[in-house]
Amino acid sequence: MYLEKLRLDGRVAVVTGGGQGIGAACARALGEAGAMVVVADLLAERAEATAQELSAAGMNAQGIALDVTKSADVDAAADEIAREHGRIDVLVNNAGVAKSDVRAEDTSDEHWRFHMDVNVDGVFWCCRAFGRHMLEKGSGAIVNIGSMSGFIVNKPQPQSFYNASKAAVHHLTKSLAAEWGRRGVRVNAVAPTYIETPLTAFGMKENPEMYKVWLEMTPMGRVGQPDEIASVVHFLASDASSLMTGSIVLADGGYTCW
Ligand code: NDP
Repeated sequence: MYLEKLRLDGRVAVVTGGGQGIGAACARALGEAGAMVVVADLLAERAEATAQELSAAGMNAQGIALDVTKSADVDAAADEIAREHGRIDVLVNNAGVAKSDVRAEDTSDEHWRFHMDVNVDGVFWCCRAFGRHMLEKGSGAIVNIGSMSGFIVNKPQPQSFYNASKAAVHHLTKSLAAEWGRRGVRVNAVAPTYIETPLTAFGMKENPEMYKVWLEMTPMGRVGQPDEIASVVHFLASDASSLMTGSIVLADGGYTCW
């Protein structure tokens, strides 16, 4: 009974920014659980390549190009997926950007807007568009990828724009959970620590001093891997978390303990 709750057979899942990193791991986790997965990413080739890897491994996947900052495109993608597959059960709002290590006083308007456009506006456009289809059928699970940076201020790299954007994701998660709680749509978030993906290469690979601080600040003394976030996303997307909505689940190696 308990393992069955983790199955997603017959369900349709959409993962934004699903072509690489955490998103690709989420797509694989949901696909392995039986969902038909739509991998959406900025670049069509990247989305398709990831979808093909899943298909080659026996899963049901499709890749599409989607820029989450374009609200009309997001609306059209949601309508198209619902029309083609008949339903949308899971949305993982994973697309996000972090061009970190920029001091607040040096942050340009463009730099600020870029992060807000993708990390905040993009998440809302997707929740709104895909959420409408979920509300219509009275069920669905949305998992937003927030960050421990929505709770703490990272050291040593300055990144006020990113931290503020992820705090907004967390509160948006709670706000939508409250609005949609009685209508069958659950909205939760995962708040990861540093995860080894292209996004964190600036610290892990290019700046050993910075990486040292990251590890010192983390009780577990290591960064995470994408699959360690995907397994939490899978849980939140499944019926195993049926009583959870509005939760921001930390997967941070203990970072926020100190
Ligand atoms: P990656 O940069 O490895 O992957 C993100 C993917 O999203 C890329 O394919 C990227 O394309 C795509 N993307 C960027 N902008 C858009 C857009 N406008 N529309 C659609 N897709 C887009 O990042 P991660 O896998 O590391 O991060 C995934 C999420 O997890 C993000 O929300 C991030 O903030 C969050 N997170 C990551 C942590 C980490 O340490 N890695 C820690 C905490 C949270 P492109 O490369 O072309 O920009």
